[in-house]
Amino acid sequence: MIYLDHAATTPVPRAVADAMYDVLTGNFGNPSSQYPLGRAARELVSRCRETVAESLGCGAEQLYFTSCGTEGDNWAVTAAAWQNRHLGRHIVTTAVEHNAVLEPCRWLEKQGCEVTWVKPDGRGNLTAEQVLSAVRPDTALVSVMMVNNETGCVFPIREIADGLRERNPRTLLHTDAVQGYLKVPFSAVELGADFITLSAHKIGGPKGVGALYVGGRVRNPRPLLAGGGQERGLRSGTEATAQIAGFAKAVELRSENLPEKLERMRSLREYAAARLSAIPDLTVVADGAAPHILAVSLEGYPSQNIVSELGEKGICISAGSACHQGKPSHVVAALGLPKRTAAGVIRLSFGPETTREDIDACAAALQAHHDARFPML
Ligand code: PLP
Repeated sequence: MIYLDHAATTPVPRAVADAMYDVLTGNFGNPSSQYPLGRAARELVSRCRETVAESLGCGAEQLYFTSCGTEGDNWAVTAAAWQNRHLGRHIVTTAVEHNAVLEPCRWLEKQGCEVTWVKPDGRGNLTAEQVLSAVRPDTALVSVMMVNNETGCVFPIREIADGLRERNPRTLLHTDAVQGYLKVPFSAVELGADFITLSAHKIGGPKGVGALYVGGRVRNPRPLLAGGGQERGLRSGTEATAQIAGFAKAVELRSENLPEKLERMRSLREYAAARLSAIPDLTVVADGAAPHILAVSLEGYPSQNIVSELGEKGICISAGSACHQGKPSHVVAALGLPKRTAAGVIRLSFGPETTREDIDACAAALQAHHDARFPML
């Protein structure tokens, strides 16, 4: 199998699975239990929190484990809107956020909030000024992702944070860093966002665990889940100790020689862009700076057909967050591409183990797909 879909999810290295196994079968206590097995589980969670916090450049007390990136996004958006409800009911976000941000924003819109959806340019980029100019005195929240999952475009969070302090210092800033974490190195404190969402399964960790960074300007964030009071009362639910252990192990492994890994991915991405551009009718759609994502279009050839044909050959790629019932994804739609280009958008995404041979095999399969068919548009 050739796996070129690391932005969808990543394989779990053996050491991560082993760390999880040890917890599931040995250190399996409930961190709330008051005997040594419970204490050991509590200590494990606390060590893991420190590992993840260190990789993020923040204090362990600023990090809350969640069940996934989706939960972190939902929590941050609703908590920010709640904290600033007396300031106003205006939210600024982008038209290309993951649905985990779009949906809670749409829900808030139905509750009477007003949402400004900032659109990127035709290559998927957007400027801090575009976002900042939408901010008003009644803006409760700005939510802008760090790296777009379909285009790989990196958004200027630090500049937005700086500008926001001048424009409206009370507005809270959330960034969904699910695709940026350990791909576009940053430190939480230097970034200046109030909420940062992470997910483990994009960096070699297990599915079903993530974390939310909550900065010092957030006061008593409203919990999304109420109950037994875990995670210092802010995220109830028995801690998913095995997942948390897997998350921390994945962070440790990924952080080893990270600059070399990122440089390798970046050069693979360049190699792939050049190699694929030699295929007739194939164009690079977005020039995102993230090292692991490349969006291209085989113009006129529907992306669902490409993805299923390559899948049959054991090559895993994706049609972005995919064509839903024949319609391009909201991200592709926001780029305003010509119909033929939009129809053929596919995403290749790389991990530290991806090789040039993987890309050559994918290029050959795309060439064969092109040669065996006529464009449908
Ligand atoms: N945000 C972005 C940018 C993503 O790419 C994803 C997953 O694809 C998510 C959020 C959701 O993360 P999770 O799958 O952990 O819920």
